[in-house]
Amino acid sequence: IFQLSLPLNFLGTIYREMRQNLLDMEVLYKLVEENAPVKDIPDAKPLQLQGGSIKFENVAFGYHADRPIFRDLSFTVPAGKKVAIVGPSGCGKSTVFRLLYRFYDPASGRILIDGQPISEVQIESLRRNIGVVPQDTPLFHADIMHNIRYGNLNATDEEVVEAAKKANVHDTIVNRLPKGYETMVGERGLMISGGEKQRLAVARVMLKDPPILFFDEATSALDAHTESELMKNINNALLDKARTSIFIAHRLRTVVEADLIIVLREGEVVEQGNHEELMRARGLYYSMWQQQASLENMEENDVES
Ligand code: ATP
Repeated sequence: IFQLSLPLNFLGTIYREMRQNLLDMEVLYKLVEENAPVKDIPDAKPLQLQGGSIKFENVAFGYHADRPIFRDLSFTVPAGKKVAIVGPSGCGKSTVFRLLYRFYDPASGRILIDGQPISEVQIESLRRNIGVVPQDTPLFHADIMHNIRYGNLNATDEEVVEAAKKANVHDTIVNRLPKGYETMVGERGLMISGGEKQRLAVARVMLKDPPILFFDEATSALDAHTESELMKNINNALLDKARTSIFIAHRLRTVVEADLIIVLREGEVVEQGNHEELMRARGLYYSMWQQQASLENMEENDVES
């Protein structure tokens, strides 16, 4: 039942893991849950990437028919630009990613990459072109080497180490983990912090080397210093070349450098522009800056609920 909706290389991983009886069932359930029945159309073609511009065109979507999240969402992410999506908790930021990655299809409207409706391209080719650094990285009950290699199962050990260095997690692996790259994730007493997990995810994505990058900033668990270090790593590692990147930002100070900031409220784009423009406009973005402290409190409450 999972076959149709899961990416192919992932099936290989599941198979190997299942054979070794290592797969964390929680991860599997989560993935199956996130893989709503979206299928290729009969004559689906591979996505032809030409720079990676992304366009949401009059998108309507709700997880339940009686509760729309987006009624008429339109925005454009220009090719090769770094775009941040900000907005109050629950406004639909993560849902944008789930639609782009086709965990779900819109009820109406279109999503286009380089002019091609994603509903008409092969899902596997769509997902191959998009790298994701999720908020909470699923790690497998396997060693660190294997966990990073998941980004590209053909990568050599040397390439894995190289990616870990670029993601600034190599030193942690070598100095802090009891068996370095051979340390088993899930081993009793082994703690991997939120920041380390996210750096492992960055290393994973570096191996994948995708033309489109989606980064979902962790809502909590990272102190301000760790967070700004992490953002620096990500910028250095992943924005080394022209890549279209979308950052879901929970903290405003990480979006100041973005080429374009899209401000969402209750599923609608209320304003967009760069940091200076939005500050001058004195709208929602400006008042979010004013309320940064209380916003962070709100997010902490969210995480607990
Ligand atoms: P946050 O900043 O808290 O991460 P967000 O802006 O990313 O929030 P989404 O996760 O996109 O918001 O959620 C938008 C709305 O959809 C919320 O009201 C949420 O409760 C709801 N929602 C999210 N996922 C599901 C789901 N799988 N089933 C039903 N409702 C969902």
